[in-house]
Amino acid sequence: MNKFEELGLDAQIVNAVNDMGFESPSEVQEKAIPILLEQDTDLVALAQTGTGKTAAFGFPLIQRINANSKKTQGLILSPTRELCLQITNELKNYSKYVKGLSTVAIYGGASISEQANQIKRGAQIIVATPGRMKDMVGRRMIDISTIDYCVLDEADEMLNMGFYEDITDILSHTPKEKKTWLFSATMPKEVATIASKFMHKPVEITVGTKNEGSKNVNHEYFLVGARDRYAALKRLADAHPDIFSVIFCRTKRDTQKVAEKLIEDGYNAAALHGDLSQNQRDLVMRSFRSRQIQMLVATDVAARGIDVDDITHVINYQLPDEVETYTHRSGRTGRAGKKGTSMVIITKSEMRKIKSIERIIKQSFERKEVPSGEEICQ
Ligand code: ADP
Ligand code: MG
Repeated sequence: MNKFEELGLDAQIVNAVNDMGFESPSEVQEKAIPILLEQDTDLVALAQTGTGKTAAFGFPLIQRINANSKKTQGLILSPTRELCLQITNELKNYSKYVKGLSTVAIYGGASISEQANQIKRGAQIIVATPGRMKDMVGRRMIDISTIDYCVLDEADEMLNMGFYEDITDILSHTPKEKKTWLFSATMPKEVATIASKFMHKPVEITVGTKNEGSKNVNHEYFLVGARDRYAALKRLADAHPDIFSVIFCRTKRDTQKVAEKLIEDGYNAAALHGDLSQNQRDLVMRSFRSRQIQMLVATDVAARGIDVDDITHVINYQLPDEVETYTHRSGRTGRAGKKGTSMVIITKSEMRKIKSIERIIKQSFERKEVPSGEEICQ
């Protein structure tokens, strides 16, 4: 028997899993899937980014949905539009052999009436951002009063982004008896609050240690003068001609500026931040995914949870304030068992931040020198 069958999954899903080339379940899948299939329970699952949480809730959700009924049965809340689309795509892949199952993505920046029409045509699963969902529920465009399952995906990110009120508002429109499945990479206070206020005796599973980074990522820092950040970034790019990278800046303005400079200097780069229109953001993501863009310069918000295959380097052009944000950034690489590198460009005054990150992620940074022009030419 195939390892996925052993977890209790039906042939339709197992066949789709085979088509996707997954050989065996990841740890969080191994732990969560049997519980979600067999027990009618709330669940809190903590596992670092890149460990396959989408399938950990997606497989059991699809199996539990009654595809013969058009009624909306499952609601997945996720922090960003990009993630909603990503999850929707994945669910469509997982359920390709399940007849009559329809999954719809609901997010801001796109036509609300078109989305309402899609819902009217019947969607058993809705994947939504909290803002747009709250709006549509408030306007009675969506009825979630009879759902059976509510998934809070990337719960830490959603709360980080200030969605607490929207989430509680949405939950207040769902039936008491529904089951809530919460998935998160980290467990800050806000997530614990949601779990204790809105969930009933959840089963808890944890993979790895809380807030720990991926074992597949090497962490490196490059000490530079305050004015040398950009030059260092170029050198790092030059030293890795095949780089496929996300570069994180702290503000939208810096993100735009760094991307513009890179493009001016002949690099294959683009910016991703919240001041772009939805169309622009979709275009940038598509070009990045298809590798027409090698260096994606992004804010934390815009790049949340994005799962793009084979990112070689995450570059912290500037360090974030929160260690959890660093964990999320570095989790964009080293996914699905592959190796990756997280680089930090840092000035002397920020050195203590490296120490506190090391303490929390339980991994050490390697100090590296910015490669010189000569080294690059060799
Ligand atoms: P998370 O939500 O934990 O950050 P994702 O669900 O986005 O992680 O999965 C990360 C990547 O791993 C995706 O590209 C996904 O297709 C892949 N993946 C998930 N489960 C497996 C598996 N069992 N075997 C191989 N690859 C997997
Ligand atoms: Mg995820």
